[in-house]
Amino acid sequence: MASVNNLNGYSIDIDNAVVSYREDIALRGVSLKVKHGEFIGIVGPNGAGKTTLLTIINGMGKLLHGRVVVLGHQLTPGNGHSLRKKVGYVPQAQSIDPRMPMNVREVAMIGRYGRLGLFRKPAAHDWKIVDTALELVGMTHLARRPIGHLSGGEQQRVAIARCLAQEPELFLLDEPTASLDWRAKTDIMELVKRIHDLRGLTTLFVTHDLSALPIACDRVVLMKDGLIWGEGSPGALLTDEKLGQLYDLPVAEVEKRRREAALV
Ligand code: ATP
Repeated sequence: MASVNNLNGYSIDIDNAVVSYREDIALRGVSLKVKHGEFIGIVGPNGAGKTTLLTIINGMGKLLHGRVVVLGHQLTPGNGHSLRKKVGYVPQAQSIDPRMPMNVREVAMIGRYGRLGLFRKPAAHDWKIVDTALELVGMTHLARRPIGHLSGGEQQRVAIARCLAQEPELFLLDEPTASLDWRAKTDIMELVKRIHDLRGLTTLFVTHDLSALPIACDRVVLMKDGLIWGEGSPGALLTDEKLGQLYDLPVAEVEKRRREAALV
């Protein structure tokens, strides 16, 4: 893997990244530096390129142009695999068939296979890492329950435990609180922040849940039309004026929707 000698304190260094899916340009020249230990919230309208940005960081995306350096290694086609072990990814809640024949503990163990190799049997040490992760997310009491028999919030806790079992250095979360109720959204955001601090991670959190962002974020990145449209502190960026411009809404409408969201 191409190695870049000097990290300069950055876990992620993206320079002018362009990504295209056939006719659609998803990223139009995105540059972003993320310091080791930073917690970044990524916000923007549907189709802005947020997921695509996470995709190029975890080595799954294909650059048309530009350069992506993650944890000191420049990503090139085909070298993402070894880096992915160090990059944990928590996706949106998925619907899980209630008949799925795996329990919570076994699902969390899936996170170990990147490090173990697919065909190696987990050792006592691996189960200990899984149990510690389940304890951290508050799921020890449900460790033997079938994965399909959990609430949405509990399933997301297991998804976070699976990611932690991987022992990542980078923590990428793509709308992990979508479809959860207000209380569960806030609980998950607080949990992610606690894990971030405890494990000394670098975290990128994509969300449409603006109210939860100031709980955790050092910096907010606003995306629109495949570009970074603004970045700064949550206080400076999550104003009604800025959000109105980002979402093409009059300020009065942003205020109204914020009030409605607070009641959910
Ligand atoms: P959302 O908030 O809706 O999840 P997003 O900001 O995460 O959106 P992306 O999923 O990164 O946006 O998509 C950016 C653009 O790339 C969109 O125009 C989308 O239609 C397109 N796109 C994303 N994935 C694919 C794909 N696999 N094939 C073709 N086009 C894609």
